Amino acid sequence: MMNVSKNKCVGCGLCVDVCPREAIVLSKGVAQIEKDKCVECQACSQECPQEAIMLIKDINLLAAFGTDDGNTLKNDNHVGMSKYFKLYQFSDDKEEFIEQRSNIKYKEDESKIHGDPGKAKATASALENVDVIVGSIFGPNISRLTNKFVCAVVRKETIEEAIKTVRENINEIIEEKNKKDKKGIILQ
Ligand code: SF4
Ligand code: SF4
Repeated sequence: MMNVSKNKCVGCGLCVDVCPREAIVLSKGVAQIEKDKCVECQACSQECPQEAIMLIKDINLLAAFGTDDGNTLKNDNHVGMSKYFKLYQFSDDKEEFIEQRSNIKYKEDESKIHGDPGKAKATASALENVDVIVGSIFGPNISRLTNKFVCAVVRKETIEEAIKTVRENINEIIEEKNKKDKKGIILQ
Protein backbone atom coordinates (compact mmCIF):
# COMPACT_ATOMS: atom_id res chain seq x y z
CA MET A 1 0.00 0.00 0.00
CA MET A 2 1.33 3.43 -0.94
CA ASN A 3 1.08 5.95 1.86
CA VAL A 4 1.56 9.73 1.86
CA SER A 5 2.97 11.41 4.94
CA LYS A 6 0.77 14.44 5.55
CA ASN A 7 3.54 15.98 7.61
CA LYS A 8 6.04 15.91 4.73
CA CYS A 9 3.83 16.60 1.70
CA VAL A 10 4.01 20.19 0.42
CA GLY A 11 1.30 19.75 -2.20
CA CYS A 12 3.57 20.34 -5.23
CA GLY A 13 1.52 17.93 -7.38
CA LEU A 14 4.49 16.22 -9.06
CA CYS A 15 3.18 12.83 -7.99
CA VAL A 16 -0.22 13.60 -9.51
CA ASP A 17 1.41 14.29 -12.88
CA VAL A 18 3.54 11.15 -12.89
CA CYS A 19 0.90 8.64 -11.81
CA PRO A 20 -0.11 6.41 -14.76
CA ARG A 21 -3.40 5.47 -13.13
CA GLU A 22 -4.65 8.92 -12.13
CA ALA A 23 -4.80 7.54 -8.61
CA ILE A 24 -3.58 10.68 -6.83
CA VAL A 25 -5.53 13.82 -6.06
CA LEU A 26 -4.59 16.88 -4.05
CA SER A 27 -6.97 17.57 -1.22
CA LYS A 28 -6.42 20.63 0.96
CA GLY A 29 -2.87 20.83 -0.33
CA VAL A 30 -1.97 17.23 0.47
CA ALA A 31 -1.67 14.30 -1.95
CA GLN A 32 -4.17 11.50 -1.44
CA ILE A 33 -3.93 8.10 -3.10
CA GLU A 34 -7.02 6.21 -4.17
CA LYS A 35 -6.10 2.69 -3.17
CA ASP A 36 -8.47 1.01 -5.60
CA LYS A 37 -6.74 2.63 -8.58
CA CYS A 38 -3.13 2.29 -7.38
CA VAL A 39 -1.00 -0.54 -8.77
CA GLU A 40 1.98 0.18 -6.48
CA CYS A 41 4.35 1.00 -9.35
CA GLN A 42 6.10 3.51 -7.03
CA ALA A 43 6.55 6.13 -9.76
CA CYS A 44 5.10 8.69 -7.35
CA SER A 45 7.50 7.90 -4.51
CA GLN A 46 10.46 8.15 -6.88
CA GLU A 47 9.24 11.54 -8.10
CA CYS A 48 8.42 13.08 -4.74
CA PRO A 49 11.05 15.66 -3.71
CA GLN A 50 9.96 15.43 -0.07
CA GLU A 51 10.24 11.64 0.21
CA ALA A 52 6.67 11.80 1.44
CA ILE A 53 5.37 8.66 -0.29
CA MET A 54 6.34 5.21 0.82
CA LEU A 55 5.29 1.66 0.01
CA ILE A 56 4.36 0.06 3.29
CA LYS A 57 3.11 -3.43 3.90
CA ASP A 58 1.98 -5.34 6.96
CA ILE A 59 1.72 -2.40 9.33
CA ASN A 60 1.94 -3.63 12.90
CA LEU A 61 2.33 -0.77 15.35
CA LEU A 62 1.18 -0.55 18.94
CA ALA A 63 0.61 3.09 19.88
CA ALA A 64 0.01 4.44 23.40
CA PHE A 65 -1.93 7.67 23.89
CA GLY A 66 -1.37 9.47 27.22
CA THR A 67 -4.63 10.55 28.84
CA ASP A 68 -6.24 11.39 32.17
CA ASP A 69 -9.87 10.93 31.15
CA GLY A 70 -9.72 8.27 28.44
CA ASN A 71 -10.89 10.63 25.70
CA THR A 72 -8.50 13.56 25.45
CA LEU A 73 -4.72 13.77 25.30
CA LYS A 74 -3.14 15.01 28.52
CA ASN A 75 -2.43 18.68 27.92
CA ASP A 76 -1.63 20.15 31.34
CA ASN A 77 1.60 18.23 31.91
CA HIS A 78 3.90 15.96 30.00
CA VAL A 79 2.78 12.60 28.71
CA GLY A 80 4.72 10.62 31.34
CA MET A 81 2.41 12.11 33.98
CA SER A 82 -0.72 10.73 32.32
CA LYS A 83 -2.97 8.64 34.53
CA TYR A 84 -3.58 6.14 31.74
CA PHE A 85 -2.30 5.05 28.38
CA LYS A 86 -4.85 3.95 25.82
CA LEU A 87 -3.31 1.39 23.48
CA TYR A 88 -4.32 1.03 19.83
CA GLN A 89 -3.02 -1.51 17.37
CA PHE A 90 -2.47 -0.03 13.90
CA SER A 91 -2.64 -2.45 10.98
CA ASP A 92 -2.84 -1.79 7.22
CA ASP A 93 -6.41 -0.62 7.22
CA LYS A 94 -7.64 -0.20 10.76
CA GLU A 95 -6.89 0.92 14.29
CA GLU A 96 -8.12 -1.35 17.03
CA PHE A 97 -8.44 -0.44 20.70
CA ILE A 98 -6.46 -3.01 22.71
CA GLU A 99 -6.45 -1.92 26.34
CA GLN A 100 -6.20 0.95 28.76
CA ARG A 101 -3.15 0.66 31.03
CA SER A 102 -2.88 2.54 34.28
CA ASN A 103 0.32 4.49 34.65
CA ILE A 104 0.77 2.69 37.98
CA LYS A 105 4.10 4.23 38.91
CA TYR A 106 2.66 7.68 38.31
CA LYS A 107 1.61 8.02 41.96
CA GLU A 108 4.75 6.48 43.36
CA ASP A 109 6.88 8.92 41.44
CA GLU A 110 4.75 11.98 42.05
CA SER A 111 7.29 13.59 44.37
CA LYS A 112 10.13 13.28 41.88
CA ILE A 113 11.25 16.16 39.74
CA HIS A 114 10.59 16.32 36.01
CA GLY A 115 13.34 14.68 34.04
CA ASP A 116 14.14 12.21 36.82
CA PRO A 117 15.49 8.98 35.26
CA GLY A 118 13.22 6.99 37.61
CA LYS A 119 10.19 8.60 36.00
CA ALA A 120 11.35 7.63 32.53
CA LYS A 121 11.89 4.07 33.76
CA ALA A 122 8.41 4.02 35.32
CA THR A 123 6.81 5.24 32.11
CA ALA A 124 8.76 2.66 30.11
CA SER A 125 7.68 -0.16 32.44
CA ALA A 126 4.02 0.77 31.97
CA LEU A 127 4.49 0.65 28.22
CA GLU A 128 5.93 -2.77 27.59
CA ASN A 129 5.59 -3.86 23.92
CA VAL A 130 4.58 -0.37 22.80
CA ASP A 131 6.16 1.06 19.63
CA VAL A 132 4.93 4.65 19.73
CA ILE A 133 4.06 7.04 22.58
CA VAL A 134 1.72 9.81 21.53
CA GLY A 135 1.28 12.92 23.64
CA SER A 136 0.72 16.64 23.27
CA ILE A 137 3.60 17.52 25.64
CA PHE A 138 6.86 15.67 26.31
CA GLY A 139 9.18 16.64 29.16
CA PRO A 140 12.96 16.52 29.40
CA ASN A 141 12.78 12.74 29.72
CA ILE A 142 12.02 12.46 26.02
CA SER A 143 15.72 11.84 25.38
CA ARG A 144 15.55 8.76 27.62
CA LEU A 145 12.29 7.48 26.14
CA THR A 146 13.45 7.75 22.54
CA ASN A 147 15.84 4.87 23.20
CA LYS A 148 12.86 2.57 23.44
CA PHE A 149 9.94 4.19 21.65
CA VAL A 150 9.06 6.52 18.85
CA CYS A 151 7.93 9.64 20.73
CA ALA A 152 5.35 11.49 18.66
CA VAL A 153 4.19 14.96 19.63
CA VAL A 154 0.63 15.41 18.41
CA ARG A 155 -1.06 18.65 19.41
CA LYS A 156 -4.63 17.50 19.07
CA GLU A 157 -7.30 17.61 21.73
CA THR A 158 -8.95 14.22 21.45
CA ILE A 159 -7.50 10.74 21.13
CA GLU A 160 -9.73 10.23 18.10
CA GLU A 161 -8.06 13.19 16.34
CA ALA A 162 -4.62 11.97 17.42
CA ILE A 163 -5.31 8.50 15.96
CA LYS A 164 -6.15 10.16 12.64
CA THR A 165 -2.88 12.13 12.75
CA VAL A 166 -0.87 8.98 13.49
CA ARG A 167 -2.53 7.23 10.55
CA GLU A 168 -1.83 10.17 8.24
CA ASN A 169 1.86 10.11 9.18
CA ILE A 170 2.46 6.41 9.67
CA ASN A 171 5.33 6.44 7.11
CA GLU A 172 7.31 8.78 9.28
CA ILE A 173 6.66 6.73 12.41
CA ILE A 174 7.78 3.51 10.72
CA GLU A 175 10.92 5.22 9.39
CA GLU A 176 11.75 6.54 12.87
CA LYS A 177 11.07 3.18 14.49
CA ASN A 178 13.64 1.57 12.20
CA LYS A 179 16.37 4.06 13.10
CA LYS A 180 19.04 3.16 15.64
CA ASP A 181 19.17 6.65 17.11
CA LYS A 182 15.56 7.67 17.32
CA LYS A 183 14.47 11.27 17.84
CA GLY A 184 11.16 12.74 18.89
CA ILE A 185 8.94 13.71 15.96
CA ILE A 186 6.26 16.35 15.70
CA LEU A 187 3.24 15.33 13.64
CA GLN A 188 0.82 17.87 12.17
S1 SF4 B 1 5.21 14.86 -4.96
FE1 SF4 B 1 5.39 14.59 -2.74
S2 SF4 B 1 5.32 16.65 -1.88
FE2 SF4 B 1 4.56 16.78 -3.98
S3 SF4 B 1 2.31 16.54 -3.75
FE3 SF4 B 1 3.15 14.50 -4.13
S4 SF4 B 1 3.49 13.63 -2.08
FE4 SF4 B 1 3.25 15.85 -1.84
S1 SF4 C 1 2.30 3.78 -6.91
FE1 SF4 C 1 2.00 4.16 -9.12
S2 SF4 C 1 -0.19 3.81 -9.43
FE2 SF4 C 1 0.10 4.03 -7.24
S3 SF4 C 1 -0.30 6.18 -6.81
FE3 SF4 C 1 1.92 5.96 -7.12
S4 SF4 C 1 2.28 6.38 -9.29
FE4 SF4 C 1 0.08 6.01 -9.01
